[in-house]
Amino acid sequence: MKFRILNFFIWIFLIAVAMYCGVNGLALWPIAAAAIMYPVFLITISTNIRWNVFAKGFHHQKDHPKKEVCLSFDDGPTNVTPKILDLLDRYDAKACFFCIGEQMEKYPEIAQDIIERGHIIGNHTYSHTRKMGFLSSKSLAREIDACNIIANDITGLNLNLFRPPFGIINPKTKSALDKTGHLVIGWNLRTYDAILNDKSKIVNRIKRKLKPGDVILLHDNKDQTPIILEQLLLHLKSNGYRAIRPDQLFKINAYN
Ligand SMILES: [Zn+2]
Repeated sequence: MKFRILNFFIWIFLIAVAMYCGVNGLALWPIAAAAIMYPVFLITISTNIRWNVFAKGFHHQKDHPKKEVCLSFDDGPTNVTPKILDLLDRYDAKACFFCIGEQMEKYPEIAQDIIERGHIIGNHTYSHTRKMGFLSSKSLAREIDACNIIANDITGLNLNLFRPPFGIINPKTKSALDKTGHLVIGWNLRTYDAILNDKSKIVNRIKRKLKPGDVILLHDNKDQTPIILEQLLLHLKSNGYRAIRPDQLFKINAYN
């Protein structure tokens, strides 16, 4: 059943029960609690990308037989990205950069460099607006299309992979993706490089959790990310791991 119809009937049910309780003098607090908890439940399932509730995505390769992981960088390109590209070259690692359209407009030569050095670019919307969770499916599709157009102008490639800003996948995202046809790439290992400042804590956490087939989320708009990345790359190298791109790990097309 379509979410919109299901959602409509859930609200009709809640209102009907509330009216019944009101007319018959029954306690209204259980239905009030349900009316509050239901939106909380919807927000929870929309922001946990790995649960695949509204749209299926690629988040990690379970039981991957080789010591391979994916490094992914969100929110660039920025002036931090060249440092990351140099590090990846030094350790012979490949990665995916989920670029914001506005950032590619600012740094077209860096976007081009990402491709020339053997990495791939994915779509991370045009503006990465904080209102992303409230956009209509039409506006979301426009955001995704606009990012693709800029990437195509710069690189000549048509991006096929999409990472939702803030990891939000709600019914509107699903409907936008039905129109644009992008594949969702999530992650299963967050580094928290965008919110935590303790670099050794971040690196130790990744080292503890790391396993073959992981998709690691980093950000190339944070000054501390190159420092974290170098320690991570050293760890991967000394433990026999190889960093590959998500199109290689999941055997999907990065472009179409
Ligand atoms: Zn982002």
